[in-house]
Amino acid sequence: MLNHLRNLNFAAVLLGLMLVFSNSSSAQVVVTAPPAPDLNNLHVVTRVVPPFVVKDNAQFKGFSIELWQAIASQIKATSNFVEKSNIKEILASVKSGEGDVAIAAISITAQREQEFDFSQPMFDSGLQIMVRADNNSGFSIWQVWNILSSGAMPFLLGLLAALIIIPAHLVWYAERRGESHFISERYFPGIWQAAWWSIGAAAGQQPDSPASKWGRIMAALAILVSMVFMSYFQATITTALTVQSLRGDINGPEDLPGRKVGTTTGSTAASYLKTLDVNPTEFSKIAEAFTALQNKQLDAVVFDSPVLLFYAATEGRNKVQVVGPMLRKENYGILFPRGSTLRKPVNEALLTLRENGTYESLYNKWFSATQSANAN
Ligand code: GLU
Repeated sequence: MLNHLRNLNFAAVLLGLMLVFSNSSSAQVVVTAPPAPDLNNLHVVTRVVPPFVVKDNAQFKGFSIELWQAIASQIKATSNFVEKSNIKEILASVKSGEGDVAIAAISITAQREQEFDFSQPMFDSGLQIMVRADNNSGFSIWQVWNILSSGAMPFLLGLLAALIIIPAHLVWYAERRGESHFISERYFPGIWQAAWWSIGAAAGQQPDSPASKWGRIMAALAILVSMVFMSYFQATITTALTVQSLRGDINGPEDLPGRKVGTTTGSTAASYLKTLDVNPTEFSKIAEAFTALQNKQLDAVVFDSPVLLFYAATEGRNKVQVVGPMLRKENYGILFPRGSTLRKPVNEALLTLRENGTYESLYNKWFSATQSANAN
């Protein structure tokens, strides 16, 4: 009887397990494919981000827009553009099914790949830093601190302290019973008087001089060493100041913490900046960040390099400059809802346009300004 019950239990557990497994495997098979998009009325989500998407008299143009138009004619689709103000809204629109596809300056990221599908990469991009053309706030405490704390400076400052303290002791010891009486016999205040003398010697001035033989030998040595050291010290400061004024304040990601940095809402640049412990001001439109930079509300803008370079070569010419290396390489892609049947034909069209020269002529049309500015 007991055995019989055990067998029954076992059968129940087995049945349960089978149910669990069959459930999970069927969940893997079910793909939540979006309804097939209507090729006669594709909703293409985009946002203004020159030169990829430009709005001119309520008409869209730009590299991405024209690339899409060429793709649409390849796949024989009719489409209309749906404008969003930032990348967050673009993602939400494609996710909700409002948009069939999105094209702008959308970076392919691991996180987005989990929720969406991307086309083949359509553009090589990456993040870079833009600052005002006068990226130099003049002489500031911050700059002095930078000079004093960088390179060999801390070591040199230590050496300077040693060059005051050591001769002070030697001179005090040799002179404390001397005839000149310019140094007290007692350690205090004698050592202070000697240190005062030694600072004077380092700076090239000696109001009083030691009178004893050893006092003078020590003093002469201290003065010689100080002379050599001080000229080296001055040269180092001069070089550091010159280099700083040539380089400007912000030249790479290491200069960003503590500065006012702007970018766009929900962008890859915003998440990159957070990894640097920089909390950026996020603007909806990139143009707003450019204005804030010029109004000195920001110290730098971190954003997609081709967008920054285009701005620096056109509207922002002589007002802004792009500095430092590419912080992170990225690729743009065309965005689809997961499982979209559009992806394959769009990929084919994209490759055809690359092969037949259309892609290249669009590239030259929209990036010639950037190219010639960079060649200058
Ligand atoms: N490449 C950026 C991204 O995908 C652009 C963001 C934007 O258009 O503001 O996050």
